[in-house]
Amino acid sequence: MKKEFFIGLTILAVVFFVMSIILSINIWITRVQTINDLNTNVSNLSHTLNLYSEGIIRQGEMFIDDLSDITEIYGEEKNNITNIRKILTSQNELLEQINNVVIYDVNGNKLIALHERIYGRVNSADRFFFVYHQNNTSKKIFIGPPVVSRTNGKWVITISRRLEDHQGRFAGVAVLTLSIENFLEAFGKIDIGHAGAIALTSESGILLIRYPFDEKNIGRVISDSPLFTTYLKNSDSGTARSVSRFDNIQRMYAFQKNKRYGFVTTVAVSLDEGMLPWKKQSEILIVIVVFLMGGAITSGYFLLRDIYQRARSHHELSKTTESLMTANKKLSAMAAEDSLTGLANRRKFDEALPHEVLQCAVNNHSISLMLIDIDYFKKYNDNYGHLAGDDCLRQVATSIKKTVKGSSALVARYGGEEFVVILPATDLIAAEKEAQKLIQNICQENICHEYSPFGIVTVSIGIASGHGLAVKGKERKLIEFADDALYRAKYAGRNGFFSSTHLF
Ligand code: GH3
Ligand code: MG
Ligand code: MG
Repeated sequence: MKKEFFIGLTILAVVFFVMSIILSINIWITRVQTINDLNTNVSNLSHTLNLYSEGIIRQGEMFIDDLSDITEIYGEEKNNITNIRKILTSQNELLEQINNVVIYDVNGNKLIALHERIYGRVNSADRFFFVYHQNNTSKKIFIGPPVVSRTNGKWVITISRRLEDHQGRFAGVAVLTLSIENFLEAFGKIDIGHAGAIALTSESGILLIRYPFDEKNIGRVISDSPLFTTYLKNSDSGTARSVSRFDNIQRMYAFQKNKRYGFVTTVAVSLDEGMLPWKKQSEILIVIVVFLMGGAITSGYFLLRDIYQRARSHHELSKTTESLMTANKKLSAMAAEDSLTGLANRRKFDEALPHEVLQCAVNNHSISLMLIDIDYFKKYNDNYGHLAGDDCLRQVATSIKKTVKGSSALVARYGGEEFVVILPATDLIAAEKEAQKLIQNICQENICHEYSPFGIVTVSIGIASGHGLAVKGKERKLIEFADDALYRAKYAGRNGFFSSTHLF
């Protein structure tokens, strides 16, 4: 039963294990789905913002191209400059992100500006974009690193182009500055969580714009980051994960390199923040499943324990019943047995006689009864003592038992020093033979009895016999007839048998 109990426990453990695996798989799948969703979202956003930024820069490019072409065609003479300013002013409303537009001459001195009030130096020969165009004959626009505007002190990025004279010599730079503030305002409207980040980086890895804004990060070179050293080398767009060098937050981000201008847009969300809904959902799921499993296992355990205890009680009960039955058998054997001689007792004889008579009646047989009495036993007892008398009784009993052994006869102690033998299916002649044998065998035991005329212990036997059918119902008579015959045997001198002459 213990085995079944442990099988039950094992099944519960297996159920627990399987449920845990299913739960883990479920949590793992939802985690993968959440990561995929986050990746998709940041990818879509990076794509959109790339287009948004490209649109602004494209407009700036067209503007600066037109202005540069006009300046080159008209030349930088004073009277032409007035006309160029008119054109410039009329274009002002085109792009709201414009911070200022300035045309510098060959020496870096301001020729015309959309907003003429310029603080600090008006010579920009030292500016990065100026030096770039001075040394680079390409007439393509150049997106420069962020600088602080001399118009209003705000952070700007520059879109500039080289100006040439009619001989193709460097003649200055036309530059348009875009306010970073405008970009940040647009980026700030996008929901990327509290710890999200959006950045625009130049092709060479200079950080142009980053939301959230922090002045100390502007213009930082991040060309050594895995984005530039690995990911962008393999693909123009994709997703990745990294710990930010700016604020040490782990983020998953999408990057998109602009095909036209080469700048890179990245949109990043904090991994902790992005995974928070999944985490919460998983925690709730774990609590529910653990609670349910705990309940199932506890009730399963108690159920099994109850079954086990019941089965054990049942087992113990049947064991007790078994031992009780054995004890009962022993008791009834003891109740049917004479304790001194080990023969059947008088009670057993009383029960057996009607049964044997009936059997003989049914089988059309005769039945005989022998009453055996030890001769001069009182004298034996008186002279040798009661214990020696008991020994003698046992020896006589054993001798009788041995003599009738093998037959279906029942030997019982009738009382005192008297024994009785039921001989089923035995007629008088056969019974007399049996009695003769008995007398002889007891004599052969040679139990010394100096106070008997025979010198040894002897018995006298009375025999009664009749047909089963005749005796049936008259068993008492059979005993009486045998007793009568015994009396005659005693009278005849003892150590012999006498058969009853009474007929049924
Ligand atoms: P008889 O030859 O006429 O049968 O004479 P008897 O002395 O055998 O017969 P009696 O009935 O006078 O004596 C029987 C004696 O058997 C009396 C009693 O002391 C003795 N006796 C009866 N039961 C027991 C017993 O269980 N143990 C012993 N030791 N003696 C017993
Ligand atoms: Mg007697
Ligand atoms: Mg006697």
